[in-house]
Amino acid sequence: MHAQIEERFLRYVQIDTQSDVESATIPSTEKQLDLLNLIAAELREMGVSDVKMTDYATVIGTIPATVANAPKVALLAHVDTAMDFSGTNVKPLVHRNYAGSPIVLPDAPTRIIDPVMFPYLAEKVGEDVITASGTTLLGADDKAGAVIVMQVAAELLAHPELKHGEVRVSFTPDEEIGRGVHADLPNDLATDVAYTLDGGNVGSVTYETFSADNATVTLTGVSIHPGKSKDQMVSAIMLAAKLLSRLPADTMTPPTTSGYEGFIHCTTMKGNVAEMKLNFILRDFERDGLAAKGALLQKICDDLQAEEPRAVIDCNIRKSYRNMRYWLENDMRPIELAFEATRRAGLEPFSKPTRGGTDGSRLTEMGLPTPNLFTGMQNGHGPMEFVSVQDMAKSAEMCLHLVQLWAEQN
Ligand SMILES: [Zn+2]
Repeated sequence: MHAQIEERFLRYVQIDTQSDVESATIPSTEKQLDLLNLIAAELREMGVSDVKMTDYATVIGTIPATVANAPKVALLAHVDTAMDFSGTNVKPLVHRNYAGSPIVLPDAPTRIIDPVMFPYLAEKVGEDVITASGTTLLGADDKAGAVIVMQVAAELLAHPELKHGEVRVSFTPDEEIGRGVHADLPNDLATDVAYTLDGGNVGSVTYETFSADNATVTLTGVSIHPGKSKDQMVSAIMLAAKLLSRLPADTMTPPTTSGYEGFIHCTTMKGNVAEMKLNFILRDFERDGLAAKGALLQKICDDLQAEEPRAVIDCNIRKSYRNMRYWLENDMRPIELAFEATRRAGLEPFSKPTRGGTDGSRLTEMGLPTPNLFTGMQNGHGPMEFVSVQDMAKSAEMCLHLVQLWAEQN
């Protein structure tokens, strides 16, 4: 199983699949189809049934049940990589039987993955650790997940003696830009429960994510020739500076929060004297906390508007995703079984809140419970990314136990 996982992973990460938030197409980048089409072909060749590419660029396939009346389980991974760092010409390096020393990335020797800084790497001594070469991300997020799902499909087909219900495998585009879950996906998956393979440390099972809103503040000033504007000009740039200065700086920001704390974060600011547009992300684990952050931003805008009636200040807050715990806590079985499957794979399961969202956040809210499972991937979205072959194999093993555990439920 290790050799197959490694071979497939090395191939997949060399295919550039970076998504693009600026693009309006589906998928956001044509190149994601290079991997999606390859996956569809490999699934067919493997003998997976009903392999199809939906018109929203998601690959879905079925491994038929080996027992009757068992719940259906879907396993998902996303094929795109993040925009934060280049995913072009990825050169994966296998550090076989990793000895424990800092890994110097040869194409950018100042980039060193040091086990002192990343203690998880220290736990991987003796394993086969894969990194990029220094100038790109690796793309283990989430090609590790894609490879694990492929391996599970192959193992289930090779071992018809394993008792399981219908298993669906699915590969989505554009997760990194928050567009991975199409409205038709829950129906097309036609499953009772789903899991994303998009988590980190071995043993982790995630069912708590941020609740998220996005906001755009538009400040319209009064633009007049700067030389003839006494008592008349209202600079949108100055208004934007005022707005930002009134937001909390020592709390409620990404670098000042961790654990269950939320934040208000300005992601982009664009414009000129006449008009400024600021985009914000609002994050909290609880609905009340999230609403309070929206209200604070709104209040700052309202105060600014009252002080400068000649300007027009618009604060538009939009709902994004919600903490999947709200739905999952009504029926914890998907998490309990994932914990049990992790134990059967010889690991200690644990749960940690994710300070972000997953495709599972959306799916869960749409009525399909979808916790997130470990893949072993580390340091996603950047050049220090790494994953061990043994961790990916552990994840595949856990998934094989998981689909059997679901079949034991009847
Ligand atoms: Zn991911």
